[in-house]
Amino acid sequence: MSRIKVHDREFVKSISCEEIAAEVKKVADRINKDYAGKRPLLLGVLNGCFMFVSDLMKNLEIECEVSFVKFSSYQGSETTGKVKKLIGLSESIEGRDIIVVEDIVDTGLTMHKMLETLAESNPASLEIASLFVKPSRLQVSVDVKYSAFEIPDRFIVGYGLDYDGLGRNLPDVYDVVE
Ligand code: 5GP
Repeated sequence: MSRIKVHDREFVKSISCEEIAAEVKKVADRINKDYAGKRPLLLGVLNGCFMFVSDLMKNLEIECEVSFVKFSSYQGSETTGKVKKLIGLSESIEGRDIIVVEDIVDTGLTMHKMLETLAESNPASLEIASLFVKPSRLQVSVDVKYSAFEIPDRFIVGYGLDYDGLGRNLPDVYDVVE
């Protein structure tokens, strides 16, 4: 089925699970090569990353570890208003080779903030692997070393990405029908 409905909106299939698997494998091959002899810590950014992290790790042959983080919105003081806090990082990343694994880099603001926060803990290296990047939407300079797909400015769902909570379970990726 190439057209689906999620909540109130229609989506059309744009990237098949076979294409995703092939590109994820290519990213894994590059990481296998670049991190030979090292033991990187993959830091998945929840919630959208879970399928990508899983498939990426199954293709890694080097020693590697995984952990997950999340940005939570919480109510700060009246003066600061709503601020985002990085939660879930239980281990020390000092001196470690870190690969942040994200589902999609859109404006780049989330990833920019993430790198800023993680860099404070002095990792040995800090790189980004993102399944999707929307280059035309970037508002800040973010160097995504490992990206599987560069896509146009369209809202997508599937393979871990949601539309208002739904659609994460879809094995393929779908573009919103405007
Ligand atoms: P950024 O800070 O780069 O603008 O936003 C990144 C986050 O926005 C992603 O982790 C994801 O949660 C959400 N996002 C951005 N574009 C899309 C999209 O096309 N589809 C979905 N489902 N989420 C998106």
